[in-house]
Amino acid sequence: MTERLLFPHERLPAVAETLRHQVRAFLREELAAGHFLPASDSWMNASPEFSRKLGRAGWLGMTWPRKYGGAERSSLERYVLTEELLSAGAPVGAHWISDRQTGPMLLRYGTEEQRLRFMPGIARGECFFAIGMSEPDAGSDLAAVRTRADRVDGGWRLNGRKIWSSFAHDAHCMIVLCRTSPKEDDRHAGLSQLLVELDSPGIQMRPILNLTGHHHFNEVVFDDVLVPDARVIGDIGGGWKQVVSELAYERSGPERFLSYYPVLASLLGPLAAQIGESDGPLTTAVGALVTQLATLRQMSLSVAGRLQLGASLEIEAAVVKDLGTRFERLLPEQARLIAAAAGMPLHEGEFGRLLAEAVLRAPSSTLRGGTNEILRGAIARGLGLR
Ligand SMILES: Cc1cc2nc3c(=O)[nH]c(=O)nc-3n(C[C@H](O)[C@H](O)[C@H](O)COP(=O)(O)OP(=O)(O)OC[C@H]3O[C@@H](n4cnc5c(N)ncnc54)[C@H](O)[C@@H]3O)c2cc1C
Repeated sequence: MTERLLFPHERLPAVAETLRHQVRAFLREELAAGHFLPASDSWMNASPEFSRKLGRAGWLGMTWPRKYGGAERSSLERYVLTEELLSAGAPVGAHWISDRQTGPMLLRYGTEEQRLRFMPGIARGECFFAIGMSEPDAGSDLAAVRTRADRVDGGWRLNGRKIWSSFAHDAHCMIVLCRTSPKEDDRHAGLSQLLVELDSPGIQMRPILNLTGHHHFNEVVFDDVLVPDARVIGDIGGGWKQVVSELAYERSGPERFLSYYPVLASLLGPLAAQIGESDGPLTTAVGALVTQLATLRQMSLSVAGRLQLGASLEIEAAVVKDLGTRFERLLPEQARLIAAAAGMPLHEGEFGRLLAEAVLRAPSSTLRGGTNEILRGAIARGLGLR
C-alpha cells in the first residue's frame, strides 16, 4: 500500500538542457525544409522517414545499452527530447511504441537473442512494433482476452483477433497478449506475451478509420499463425505481470499532457496581438492553463527522475495520467473559449487548423493506455481506499 503520494521537485541536468538546444535546432531545420507540419496529438501521426532521422541522430532507444543500439543516456535526457518533439507537433507515431515500451520490455523480459535481433533496428528507426492487447470484448478488462495460443512442436499456434492496434499497418512486429492455458479461478493466470512478426503467414489486417477519417487503428486477425518458442517474451503464463509493468512505461510521460500544447502555443501570439497586455479575464484564463501545465510537468518530471533510480511508481504514474489527460481534454475547449472571447477567428490560420484537429482527437486522451475510470480504481487500491 502506498501511504502517501510524493512528487519531489526534480531538476534537469545541464546535459539535458544542452540536448534541448540540439533538438530545437534539428526541429527548426525540419520545419524550415517543410518536412512536417506541426500537428495536435502528433504522436498519433507517423512518418517512418522522420523516425529514421531521429534514429540517425542517436535519439531513439537513447537510454539503452550500446550493445543493443542505444546511447546509454539518461531518462531525463530522453524526457527533454520527448517534450521538445511533442511541443513542436512532430510526427513521432511510427517509432513511439517500440521506443517507449517494447525496448524497455525486451530489456526486462526478453532473451539475449531477442534483444540483439530487434533492439538495434528499433534504435535506427527501422523496426516498428504495435501493441496487441485490446480485443472486441477485452479492453479495460484485459484478463478477458480470447486470443489463444496452443502448444505445437517447437512453438505456439495463435488464433484470435485484436482491435484498436495503433499503426500496426506500419509495424513489423506486434507483442500479442494471449491465453496459453484455460481461464482458472485466478483470471490473471495463463496469459502470455508472444512477439509476432507481422509478415507471418495467417495474419490479416484491416484498417479501422477514426473520427477524423485517419487510418491509425487496425483490426488484426490471427488464423493458425505459428510462433516459434524463441519468440515467447518472458515466461509462459507470466503475461499479466509483464503487461502491467509495460503499462507503467506508458502512463506518466509528457505525452499525457503535451498532446495539445501546439494549440496553446499557436493561440498566444495572435491573442497577445489582439488584447495587448491588459490584465483581464482572458489573461487570467491563459494563466490558469499555463499554471496547470507547469504543475503537471513538474509532477511528470518527478516521476521520470525517480523511475530512473529504479523506483516502482505505478500509482504516481496513474495520477499523472489521470490529471494530465483531463487537462488535455480541457485545453482545446478553453483555448476555443478564450479565442472566441477575444474575437479571434476560430477556423483560420495555424490556430484554427490545430484547434480543429484537437477537438476531434482530444476525446481519446482519457481512453488510450487505460481509461481514467480504471486508473482511478488503481489509484484508490494503491492508497488502500478500496
Ligand atoms: C487512440 C487510441 C489508441 C489505442 N491503441 C491501442 C493499441 O495500439 N493497442 C491496443 O491493444 N489497444 C489500443 N487502444 C485501446 C484502449 O487501450 C482501450 O480502448 C481502452 O483500454 C478501453 O477499452 P475499451 O475500448 O474496450 O472500453 P471498455 O473497457 O468497454 O470501457 C467502456 C467504458 O466503461 C468504463 N469501464 C469499463 N470497466 C469499468 C470498471 N471496472 N469500472 C468503471 N468503469 C469501467 C471505461 O472506463 C469506459 O469509459 C487504443 C485506444 C485509443 C483511444
